[in-house]
Amino acid sequence: MKKINLKISTLSVLSLLSTFVVNAQTTLIHAGKVLVGTEQSVKEQQTLVIEGNKIAAIKAGYLTTQQLDLSDADVFDLKNQMVLPGLIDMHVHVTFERDAKRNPHQWVTEYEADYALRSLKFLKHTVNAGFTSVRDLGSSYQVIFPLKRAVERGDIVGPRIFAAGDMITPTGGHADMHGYRRDITKATEGGGLGVCDGADDCTRAVRDVIKSGADVIKITATGGVLSNTAAGVNQQFTDEELSAIVNTAHHLGRKVTAHAHGTEGIKAALRAGVDSIEHGSFLDKDTVKLFKKQDAYLVPTLLAGATVKEEVLNNPNMPKAIAEKVEFVAPKMEESFKLALKNKVKIAFGTDSGVSKHGDNAKEFELLVKYGMTPKQAIKSATVEAAKLLGQSHNLGDLSVGKQADIISVNMNVLDNISELSQVQFVMKGGKVLKQ
Ligand SMILES: [Zn+2]
Repeated sequence: MKKINLKISTLSVLSLLSTFVVNAQTTLIHAGKVLVGTEQSVKEQQTLVIEGNKIAAIKAGYLTTQQLDLSDADVFDLKNQMVLPGLIDMHVHVTFERDAKRNPHQWVTEYEADYALRSLKFLKHTVNAGFTSVRDLGSSYQVIFPLKRAVERGDIVGPRIFAAGDMITPTGGHADMHGYRRDITKATEGGGLGVCDGADDCTRAVRDVIKSGADVIKITATGGVLSNTAAGVNQQFTDEELSAIVNTAHHLGRKVTAHAHGTEGIKAALRAGVDSIEHGSFLDKDTVKLFKKQDAYLVPTLLAGATVKEEVLNNPNMPKAIAEKVEFVAPKMEESFKLALKNKVKIAFGTDSGVSKHGDNAKEFELLVKYGMTPKQAIKSATVEAAKLLGQSHNLGDLSVGKQADIISVNMNVLDNISELSQVQFVMKGGKVLKQ
């Protein structure tokens, strides 16, 4: 008896397994318009066939399950919509959100779990806004990597996360902790794993951050606007430190992106071989040439500039060291973006969300278009180009057969009115519908 029972249960398990393999969930999307492939040509009246987590086919006409010879499929009617690849934001901080009224001592009163729990709604807002992938450029390794894994397991709702973890910064640099007694910042290890001085120590820090789980290395090559220190926005790492960081990261298969505002700091980072520059606020003709020579991307984060500019006007408690830097830097970001665009520097979309509100990411599109991009260029910067900079073009960034089914929809006229991207109607990530 025992033996027979075993046989039956083995058989039923086998048949169950084969059902899963053969009948991965099939979904059909009837799209009024769709941006297809890396060229993102507009096609009308198409059917997207999704099997499991991937795009299996894109066919002309609105095809039915019978016409496709399918026994069963979910069908989504997006005939009055424009269908696009899921958006990618290359610069976010999903573990916090700036709030002028917040308790300034939060960082010494709260535990990592507080940050993680608060992040749940930030992740939901982000993916609901149509951003199916994000690159997090600076969040504690103790929070961001567990969040990334929880999203991957499907335990929580959110975009795919590619994360830098702790930032690489010199002592007293932009990503170190400021504004408290020295013994307090030291005791709390406020700057995290990435504080380093000298080429050898910076090599150690990059290895340490990668060991903690980093997908990409983020460095603060120059001073930053929102650190409470009157140290300007010029170069903070030495050339030797920059080379050590970039070489170590590249040897370990990680790209490097540099937070950089001041011109000489941007140039030094580019010469050292970073793959991209965040913000890039003070560009000149020589810097633009260097971008092209090094084949590096600019991630302009215009929304961050616009957000802090507004905060200076409305927040009387903003520390003087920060307010002065905002007034110096913010207006320059627009000019530099225009210069980069005119000279065909490669541009990837990034908002610095966390400075602005999570879920408002698409406001960056309006600024990109306002300062010179076509709507199609702006969309490409957040899809095809972002996927290239992520090193994920084989998997993400466009609607082609074999790619991840990260799919969103907006009103039909998005190419005439880019602000439609702030009203995403439908979101699918990896074949799962998250919003409709
Ligand atoms: Zn940032």
